[in-house]
Amino acid sequence: MPRQDRTPPPAERATALRHRLAELRGPEVQAKALDARALAALASNPGCRRRAILDGAGVDKARLATGLGSPSDYGQSQFALIRGNVFEARVKADRGAELLRLAHACFDPATEPPAGAAVPDLTADGPKGRTARTELALREAVEAGGWTLLDHPMLALEVAGAPAFLEPDAVVVHPDGVWTVVEIKSFPMLDGSADASKVGAAARQSAVYVLALEEVAARLDPAIRVRHEVLLVCPKDFSNLPTARAVDVRRQRAVTARQLTRLTRIEEIADGLPEGTCFAPDRTPEELEAAVDAVPATYAPECLSSCELAFHCRERSRASGAVTRLGRPLRAELGGLRTVEEVLSAARGESGDPDDPAVAALRRAAALRAEALAHAAAAREVTLCP
Ligand code: SF4
Repeated sequence: MPRQDRTPPPAERATALRHRLAELRGPEVQAKALDARALAALASNPGCRRRAILDGAGVDKARLATGLGSPSDYGQSQFALIRGNVFEARVKADRGAELLRLAHACFDPATEPPAGAAVPDLTADGPKGRTARTELALREAVEAGGWTLLDHPMLALEVAGAPAFLEPDAVVVHPDGVWTVVEIKSFPMLDGSADASKVGAAARQSAVYVLALEEVAARLDPAIRVRHEVLLVCPKDFSNLPTARAVDVRRQRAVTARQLTRLTRIEEIADGLPEGTCFAPDRTPEELEAAVDAVPATYAPECLSSCELAFHCRERSRASGAVTRLGRPLRAELGGLRTVEEVLSAARGESGDPDDPAVAALRRAAALRAEALAHAAAAREVTLCP
């Protein structure tokens, strides 16, 4: 009888994928959790398979970059982390009294100020246990009514076929049952406004929490509303006193949701890698280079502010003459032309389809340049004549 091909059931496939990702990370290497900051950055470059598989496998990209000889300077400084933790503790002191006052002032000013709030214990074993505990606490908060503050809840979001566990600074459940994500940052808010690029980064990060929280709400009761404005808490002016403003994350939420659906499934990328590929920190630089080069990347200058491997990928991109290093807008303009060599050849009329708008534009630009140079040369000759 001919052998029947069998598609393994989802649980079997999930276990096989877990093993495969553990192999890629290296034996005994602890997986690095994917946080919302990393997820927002991943969603900003959905075409990069390299980042998707490294993040999916929980590889510590900063260590990997050091192993490759291209250490990154991306990430928060130790000083900023400590300052952030001190400020967060201050905001949440006294069972979150100040935090609730700010949430009430921003979103429910017409209602009674909170006299206190339930602050459930969210401790549990492992990320899965903590996610389940958070879901239970949210369910109890909705049933009980009143104010509830969830301090560092844990949420899960499926990313490219694998779960990512996310930990917002806090979630507030309001008496009307609406849920609000709270993001606490240590950059200052001067006269009610803060550095736009930092607020933008906080909004992208918070949008990921909103998406994860919406999944919980949909499971518990589709009538539950997750607010699309998050509460951004920062130090007021140059003091250490907290102040807050509501930040609308509708656009960031929509963009992130769309980008996450465009990520290639991790399973598919892992299946395409050569046997023995491993990103473990004890491998030699040559082995790590071969492993990293086995996964295609889409480098863009934006990687410099969002990915630990940026210096390595930039070098590789330069060496291959890829046009991606010139920036996404220009890459989009160049259509199917992938390298600087292809672009120059098309401009010189040596290759490329003349009906291709990018090729036609390049040839026109090359002709204009040649004309301008000829004029300049003629003008120089006239000036030099006695
Ligand atoms: S730096 Fe490299 S791995 Fe990271 S997102 Fe950019 S191309 Fe991908």
